[in-house]
Amino acid sequence: MSRRCIAGLAILLASLGIVFPLVLNASTITPVTCSSPVSSPPAPTEYFVSLADPATHLAHISIRIAKSEGKLVLDMPVWNALYQVRNFAANIEGVRAQDASGRAAEVRKTTTSEWEVSAPAGCVVVTYGIHLDTPGPFGSVLNADRGFFNWAMVLMYAPTLREEPVNLRLLDVPATWALRDVYVLGGAEPGQVSQVVGAARNYDELTDSPAEVGTFRQTSFREDGATYHVVVDGNPADYDMAKLQEALRKITHAAVDWMQDRPYEEYTFLYHFPRGHGGGGMEHAYGTAIDVNAERLRNGLSPVAGVTAHEFFHLWNVKRIRPQSLEPIDYQHAQDTRALWFSEGVTDTVADIVLARAGLIGEDAYLRHISAEITELQHRPAHTWQSAEESSLDAWFEGDAFYRMPERSISYYNKGDILGVLLDLRIRQRTDGKKSLRDLFRWLNDHYARQRRAFPDSEGVELAAETTTGQSFADFFSDYVAGVKEIPYDEFFQFAGLHLVTETVEAATPGFTTTANLGGQPEVVRVDPNSEAQRAGIAAGDRITALNGAPADAFLDGELSRMRPGSTVRLQIENRKGRREITFRLGTGEQQIYELQDLPSITAEQRAHRAAWIRGDDEPGGAP
Ligand SMILES: [Zn+2]
Repeated sequence: MSRRCIAGLAILLASLGIVFPLVLNASTITPVTCSSPVSSPPAPTEYFVSLADPATHLAHISIRIAKSEGKLVLDMPVWNALYQVRNFAANIEGVRAQDASGRAAEVRKTTTSEWEVSAPAGCVVVTYGIHLDTPGPFGSVLNADRGFFNWAMVLMYAPTLREEPVNLRLLDVPATWALRDVYVLGGAEPGQVSQVVGAARNYDELTDSPAEVGTFRQTSFREDGATYHVVVDGNPADYDMAKLQEALRKITHAAVDWMQDRPYEEYTFLYHFPRGHGGGGMEHAYGTAIDVNAERLRNGLSPVAGVTAHEFFHLWNVKRIRPQSLEPIDYQHAQDTRALWFSEGVTDTVADIVLARAGLIGEDAYLRHISAEITELQHRPAHTWQSAEESSLDAWFEGDAFYRMPERSISYYNKGDILGVLLDLRIRQRTDGKKSLRDLFRWLNDHYARQRRAFPDSEGVELAAETTTGQSFADFFSDYVAGVKEIPYDEFFQFAGLHLVTETVEAATPGFTTTANLGGQPEVVRVDPNSEAQRAGIAAGDRITALNGAPADAFLDGELSRMRPGSTVRLQIENRKGRREITFRLGTGEQQIYELQDLPSITAEQRAHRAAWIRGDDEPGGAP
């Protein structure tokens, strides 16, 4: 029952002359005071999170600050996980405070995301409720079935204590729920969760450690000397845990072997396979949270393998090989960075190398993937004026449907992925195959990550390429990274015995274009005049929620174009007028695609280069 229903019932009963004490919550929230620290001695900041009301999506937060100086400032982050300002303070209600003697202290809201507490110097407890109903790896959720918490969306911090240790205890957890998180809390069986205390060195470390509580399945395995935990919230009929574990074993081993590094003892995969809408992954230093539609798993694990390889490689690229522009994290403002083409896009490049090394994709799939990325970039008119670095800077606009249109923006994932491939080939060309992207990453890892230093964005990658090869990469970076010069693809691919061919193919045309925010539902941004889609009433701004009964996601346009031209499809659509279902026939049209194909004659040397390139290996002896 929602709170609105209870209030409505109370008004009805009161109007009938029935008076009773209104109890909003049947469950009891464990009170937190200055005399109930999490640990002894207490950490400077201690968080208590009560899950007494899961059905209302409301978590009850108490923050115990051991020593305040009379005035205490608390901030709520405005962004986390996604490079998008989301103002988490909007979900907060009823901020109150009490001093060491239990007396109410004055609380004043000073900005949209900041509160000031006035209390006698000493311990202060601040409490508030927060509404958590944003599913997915970039969100936080509390409902009758489970909780998933990205702590920066849940917990305020005192800026003066941000570098100091914090700890956290969950309270009032439903008795049947178990717990597993990425790093801070560890795991706990049903009935023991509220006994668990987690400690982090500081707030940043806590916010990099999401937690899952509920009735999930889990397993663990050892590989390369590390322990991997696998947690799945989903219907057991939708996936095979043994096969998932086998794929993870191959992926983790391939990546660790490629980097010759394993900077952790334990790593946790948190999976959520919803039968409804969902998708996306979020990286953390010691784990990842990943959502994949259960429907996508019907034909095997490849949708999970791709996103997992990407998120897993992030434990190096972005979490430890860290661009300077993202440090220190500014939780209060959009943080400008030109490095996402590398931190995200080149992570995609390596994800494919890892999948190939792991034996999960072959040469055909590897080349098809690159061809599709090139087709995507070349078809976006914005590639002629928005650079990879500018696309990184404008990541903060990606929540906006207009910004995502092909005329307005390119994707730093897309162009970054291609740049990673080209960088790899150019390094190989210049060193006769003896060096590669692998050496560039190992240099960045040794020179920056292991020294606990951030690297100077694109300039640092350029330096790494030049150190690896002993040759200048100035043109490459000014032309294709900072600039928008058309890429002469054949100059790069010839090394591997390939050239790029344009082909005109007949394909299904849906008659409309959609874009989707990360992890979001596709939204119609354009409808072709005189198309079947227009006649069926599809309009810009419509959200497509289902295709032929299955939840629609960011891959909708691609899925439609791969269907048989002229076939009939069923779409579920939502807009301001409500939800409706329409049926219409796909059109037929000619599409120009780019395809990497063998050169008319390939040398043995080119074949050897190609094999090493796809597996991400160096060729120590150079060309045969
Ligand atoms: Zn990523």
